[in-house]
Amino acid sequence: TTTTERHLYDVVVIGAGGAGLRAAIEARLAGKRTAIISKSLFGKAHTVMAEGGAAAAMGNVNSRDNWMVHFRDTMRGGKFLNNFRMAELHAKEAPERIWELETYGALFDRTKDGRISQRNFGGHEYPRLAHVGDRTGLELIRTLQQKIVSLQQEDFAETGSYDSRIRVFQETTITELLLDGDRIAGAFGYYRDSGEFLLFEAPAVVLATGGVGRSYKVTSNSWEYTGDGHALALRAGATLINMEFLQFHPTGMVWPPSVKGILVTESVRGDGGVLRNSEQKRFMFDYVPDVFRKQYAETEEEADRWYDDPDNNRRPPELLPRDEVARAINSEVKAGRGSPAGGVFLDIASRLPAEQIVRRLPSMHHQFKELADVDITKEPMEVGPTCHYVMGGVEVDPDSGAAFGTVLGLFAAGEVSGGMHGSNRLGGNSLSDLLVFGKRAGEHAAAYVDTLGKRPKPDRVDVAAAAEVALAPLTRSGGENPYTLQQDLQAVMGDLVGIIRREGELTDALKRLHELRLRVANVAAGGGGRRYNPGWHLALDLRNMLVVSECTAKAALEREESRGGHTREDFPGMSPQWRRINLVCSLDETGAVHLERKPVPAMRPELLDLFDRSELSKYMTDEELGEE
Ligand code: FAD
Repeated sequence: TTTTERHLYDVVVIGAGGAGLRAAIEARLAGKRTAIISKSLFGKAHTVMAEGGAAAAMGNVNSRDNWMVHFRDTMRGGKFLNNFRMAELHAKEAPERIWELETYGALFDRTKDGRISQRNFGGHEYPRLAHVGDRTGLELIRTLQQKIVSLQQEDFAETGSYDSRIRVFQETTITELLLDGDRIAGAFGYYRDSGEFLLFEAPAVVLATGGVGRSYKVTSNSWEYTGDGHALALRAGATLINMEFLQFHPTGMVWPPSVKGILVTESVRGDGGVLRNSEQKRFMFDYVPDVFRKQYAETEEEADRWYDDPDNNRRPPELLPRDEVARAINSEVKAGRGSPAGGVFLDIASRLPAEQIVRRLPSMHHQFKELADVDITKEPMEVGPTCHYVMGGVEVDPDSGAAFGTVLGLFAAGEVSGGMHGSNRLGGNSLSDLLVFGKRAGEHAAAYVDTLGKRPKPDRVDVAAAAEVALAPLTRSGGENPYTLQQDLQAVMGDLVGIIRREGELTDALKRLHELRLRVANVAAGGGGRRYNPGWHLALDLRNMLVVSECTAKAALEREESRGGHTREDFPGMSPQWRRINLVCSLDETGAVHLERKPVPAMRPELLDLFDRSELSKYMTDEELGEE
């Protein structure tokens, strides 16, 4: 059957990670009937996997820290391509959002005097990551879910129903957004277990669907991350920015092959771990770029002293931003100085007593023991780059999270949104981003609903069309196998649009993506019906992965410079002219990807004044600096 269950809400939040839950809490607090939809089980999202912590300039461990230092670090990490307003709001509001979590019941690790402890991480000048061992994301999700349950209990006391104002639809995938003219009118999707359809009628949608990593074979991302929110936004008339910037985390597992890509947290380096090549050399000293030279130690002795005396020594180069470390590892392996499994060595065993390693990095200890039969208190780990995070995403208004483009009533927060992190995200800045912008998106989605006179209504024709598209892979016989298509897509993206990019390969990638698009249009689920059918689910995800990959490849070809998570072998330098340009993706009427150049908003003078001119001159044109 093609019956479609119908639900009415004020705000529909797609995604139950940190951004989605925080947005839903805020929408409900504003009195809106709110639905939370999650493709996976409730509680299973990337956010739960986050290990290191949430960055917030609380100044608990080093009192010199404040929002201005955090803002500076974030802009530097993103190589000044960040939306400055987002970076400003994030740095200013993150501490409040972390403290607020405590009022929801979060228990962070403590300093000796009982304050929230903060740990060092790459690119952050001071210890700044609030954390719970290496299981911070779990605490974040646990607390946000707990808050939702408590709100549901309040609603029960008042209305007799737990679901009256906030309801969770888990294992439910949204496949299409619905419009009424240029306004959001709802969302269409299906229950993954029964395959039955659902229609949400709602005037406001918050996208909080996370990332796109599954378009790459070696990735820290799990199966849900097929770029659905990015693609839903595009198809609804919104725009994506800077999709060329992907973060390859320097340390994923490389052995055994079955777990290749699984993350090894940066906390290992934050807590003293060092990278060595096959000659046992701490090679990162050879890879400190000019723009960072002043902040990083030149000798092992100085680097080692920094852990105990950060005021009088400079940081170890292992704690450079991720893009730098990933490229360095890539170069070492290419030069033949890699580990047996094609990575490099990450050594914590010789740096900390075993007992401390187990206490500070319990998940890593467990992960290596279980998956690789390596005891990290005794032996080094083998690690290499893994596709981890997408800096690009839905182009949004920085204050409200409202999507740009031609659509009204669409909001985005968290990894699916773009701008905040510029060309490269600092570790720890995602969990804080989710809280800051999740709250803002929920608040503004609720406020938007209040401005509407008449509720937009989905068009029946559009609902029928969405159902037809969803059923097509089931009715088609003899079509393409979705698993083969995914492998082919991953090969194109990994081989031709990976860490190091070249014009010829990118052109080739676009040609192959075009061919894949035709094949994906002919994908068949290969039997199995609608009841929990993973082949069907993947068949539907593929068209999202494909359009998002096209945006990435197109923008990567267009941007003729190297910056953050985009490295062009044929254009190795950073260009001040390119720093002023955002690449914006949209779909035209035929569904083809269209790319446009837009100026990066110029930083307000008082924010510019937070930097030395000599530093700014490394990034900006004379014209920009002269205008100041
Ligand atoms: P997610 O938490 O990814 O949630 C997305 C949600 O959307 C899920 O519920 C998913 O089911 C749902 N969804 C997706 N598509 C659909 C659809 N079509 N229909 C319905 N639902 C859908 N960042 C840090 O700051 N610090 C860290 O220490 C850290 N460690 C990390 C460790 C790992 C292993 C990984 C993978 C990431 C880490 N990150 C870290 C990054 C950070 O965890 C993520 O960027 C962040 O959690 C993203 O949160 P989100 O709320 O945007 O989305």
